[in-house]
Amino acid sequence: MPERAPRREPTRVLLVEDNEQNLELAQFLLEEAGMEVEAARNAFEARTALGRRAPAIVLMDIDLPGIDGLDLVMEIRRKPEWRQLPVIALTAHAMRGDRERFLAGGCNGYISKPIQVNNFAQDVRRHLADGAEDIDDGG
Ligand code: MN
Repeated sequence: MPERAPRREPTRVLLVEDNEQNLELAQFLLEEAGMEVEAARNAFEARTALGRRAPAIVLMDIDLPGIDGLDLVMEIRRKPEWRQLPVIALTAHAMRGDRERFLAGGCNGYISKPIQVNNFAQDVRRHLADGAEDIDDGG
């Protein structure tokens, strides 16, 4: 039997964030953890990135200029090919009911800002694993 080394593709993350400091920090932490990050600073850049190639997971800032993150999530969910795409809200909102609002709006989960340097990449991986469970439900 020919030996086939399993080639591990890096996990591709689409990071939608308009705040440059948050963007840089999140990107740094994810890349340090071996993930590949595509950054988008608004809904237009996010759409372009999604159209090019679907990522494994989307981290979505809710407060974006112009079209906000939740509107963009609704738009993503309307496309059959993106319905299962894990989308995690990334936001400083901590008001009562916000989590429910994000989940009802089509997000799979929620990571609150400020970004926790020690846990961030791990949180993203955990959400990815949760998403895989939802999709690949073999029983
Ligand atoms: Mn923002």
